[in-house]
Amino acid sequence: MKPVLPGAVIGILGGGQLGRMLALEARRMGYRTAVLDPAPRGPAAQAADLHIRAPVDDAEAALKLAAAADVVTVEWELIPAEVLRKVEKDKPLRPSSRVLEIIQDRLVQKEFLARHGFPQTPFEAVHDMAGLSTASERLGLPGVLKGRRHGYDGKGQLSLESWQDLSAAGNLLKAPCVLETKVAFEKEISVILARGQDGMAAVYPVAENAHRRGILHTTRAPAGIPETARRAAEELALAIAKALGHVGVMAVEMFLLPGGKLLVNEIAPRVHNSGHFTWDACAVSQFEQHLRAVCGLTLGETDLFSPAVMVNLLGDLWEKGEPAWEKILGVPNLKLHLYGKDKPAPGRKMGHLTLLGPDPAALLKQTEDSLALLG
Ligand code: AMP
Repeated sequence: MKPVLPGAVIGILGGGQLGRMLALEARRMGYRTAVLDPAPRGPAAQAADLHIRAPVDDAEAALKLAAAADVVTVEWELIPAEVLRKVEKDKPLRPSSRVLEIIQDRLVQKEFLARHGFPQTPFEAVHDMAGLSTASERLGLPGVLKGRRHGYDGKGQLSLESWQDLSAAGNLLKAPCVLETKVAFEKEISVILARGQDGMAAVYPVAENAHRRGILHTTRAPAGIPETARRAAEELALAIAKALGHVGVMAVEMFLLPGGKLLVNEIAPRVHNSGHFTWDACAVSQFEQHLRAVCGLTLGETDLFSPAVMVNLLGDLWEKGEPAWEKILGVPNLKLHLYGKDKPAPGRKMGHLTLLGPDPAALLKQTEDSLALLG
């Protein structure tokens, strides 16, 4: 297919911060964007040229978006499959509905990984309490029970440390779940890569993530891991993207075990929170890279200009009112990103900071100091 060039309209299914950052980068490059989102002035709609105000499961509205766009992409992988397939009949959808359907169900995703021999933690499908009990016996505890669909930021998950914890699973088991063995990992890392329609791929430096309450807290790049692990992680992520036939940016979250072994935790077929550092620390951000991939352009440079640490700004920071931005805005190596959300809530991602400098350990310390100043 001919490349989609500036001036064209990129349709984005979903309207959160990922869509906003895609739309901002698209605008810089001279593209126009259309966004499908039910909120009156969500993060992406504020930055888009056209806003179709409807839920992402509204097929008619999605087709309206497709009609206005030259190419369509997603900022959220959980768009219903029927909607994706309809859009795809009308306009190029990247990544394809086939890829998104594999990813959007944890069980299907895990079965895909298993079929291709990619390493992951043992798992079993679970439908009810009896099934949970059998699966727990087979896999052993501790485990993590996860809803097959609609889980993100640690939502829809239950940590099962002992047999007593199983009784708390009733709510989660109202929908199909997967039980997986809990991993005693040394580090959590992620690989952000992009793959074009021609199969060419570009990988960003492996990032190291720290979570709090199941939500990403900080990402540091490059990860503080041995060269062998770094290379193995990159190769693993590239092989997954190829096996999927993915087009666009993709994030592969992995656990690094004490002996150096890697296990895939999950795949996100889109730009990802742990890739936000690329906007400030690389010549071509993950957002531009995604646009390049879905528009059929050559992929850009992925080298780091400087080590970086990203920290999420959650709604909890707003507990006593607007954070004291003036205390950090004068800091020369710090960049503030806010997503234009007007209702802070605990655990809600409102923005992030990127800190740049030669020493990632010093940046991590500076990150905590900056949060303390804001709160
Ligand atoms: P997820 O939404 O699956 O990425 O899970 C969110 C976070 O929960 C992960 O980044 C890990 O910190 C933790 N987690 C999820 N699954 C496991 C597991 N099987 N073993 C240990 N920690 C896990």
